[in-house]
Amino acid sequence: MAHPSTLGGVAILATALAAAPAAAATLSTAPFGTTTDGKPVSLTTMTNDHGVVVKFMSYGGIITEIVTPDRHGHLANIVLGFPTLHEYETKSAEGGLYFGALVGRYANRIARGHFSLDGHEYTLAINNPPNALHGGLKGFDKQVWEVQPFSTSGQSVSAVLRYTSPDGEEGYPGTMKIAVTYTLTDGNAFIIHYQATTNKDTVLNLTNHSYFNLAGSGSPNGVYQQVLTVNADQYTPTDKTSIPLGQNVPVQDTPFDFRTPTAIGAHIRANDQQLIWAQGYDHNWVLNKRSDAAGPELAVRAYDPASGRTLECATTEPGVQIYTANFLKGIYAGNGGIYRQTDAFTLETQHFPDSPNHPAFPTTELKPGQSFDSITQFRFGVRQ
Ligand code: BGC
Repeated sequence: MAHPSTLGGVAILATALAAAPAAAATLSTAPFGTTTDGKPVSLTTMTNDHGVVVKFMSYGGIITEIVTPDRHGHLANIVLGFPTLHEYETKSAEGGLYFGALVGRYANRIARGHFSLDGHEYTLAINNPPNALHGGLKGFDKQVWEVQPFSTSGQSVSAVLRYTSPDGEEGYPGTMKIAVTYTLTDGNAFIIHYQATTNKDTVLNLTNHSYFNLAGSGSPNGVYQQVLTVNADQYTPTDKTSIPLGQNVPVQDTPFDFRTPTAIGAHIRANDQQLIWAQGYDHNWVLNKRSDAAGPELAVRAYDPASGRTLECATTEPGVQIYTANFLKGIYAGNGGIYRQTDAFTLETQHFPDSPNHPAFPTTELKPGQSFDSITQFRFGVRQ
């Protein structure tokens, strides 16, 4: 079955994955070791009737594998990761890599680890000098979440991950209760639904930090030939420490113009100060939104011409940080081989970097009585 759709005025025909005769979606959970501080960790495996498999840990809500078929039905794991919990606790954490992680309280950077809210000054750990990054020294990516599978229609499987972040954790105000639901459907969608409440005014920005390589984790050619289409007329230029300069600017006539299908490698070596400072793409794209939008809207399409795999990302978030794994230095071997710069891309749907210090950006404040609600959907397919 084919479903035509458009982005940037370009019609794209994505072919849904051929249905295997297998049964409906399944979910199972097994022990996956113990953290260095003695907490048991589980690994949950979700499958659907097209051969798609998503695995995630209770540690950091980390997605360890996403297996999808290529255009010939050959399966490959399309996210970078490690085979053991220990390697996530050491290599990914020490290297500041955030492989597959559920990132919070504040995904992305807060300038110099400072923000003020209601007249109070808050100070965060400077874990990415000179800034605070991805929730601090022990962010949500390093907490063990409670995982509760729940029953479904038979055409999808879900699990809710829960964590209560205490008042003052990593310097952030308010006790925050977070529930994140992971769902895999027989329609080849993996949906992340984030919900949160607080008992004091605070800020939050949640995302998933999966590193995608549609040719397969560790495949030798990196992602230069993989094609992105980004539903964004503007992006957010930064200073050399990746803090927004203040204004969003048009992508037109810049290497950030992915409004029509463009290979990641097409302009990544352009002599552009933004690309030089970030050592590649590591920027927020300001997603085009319909004023009447009620749910997730298409953000990014990715396509790998070699394997035929496609990935569509839709979100309710206003931005997406696309990062070309610029700081993978070839010093860690993971699933499929050694990981190097530009071996993957992330699609970190989120609010804009350093929003607490940029009043003109969409707000990241959450107050008591409010419910934070955000959905990001990744849909897997192939093109012949
Ligand atoms: C950031 C990068 C950072 C990486 C860490 C990305 O979200 O934008 O600058 O190095 O996360 O893995």
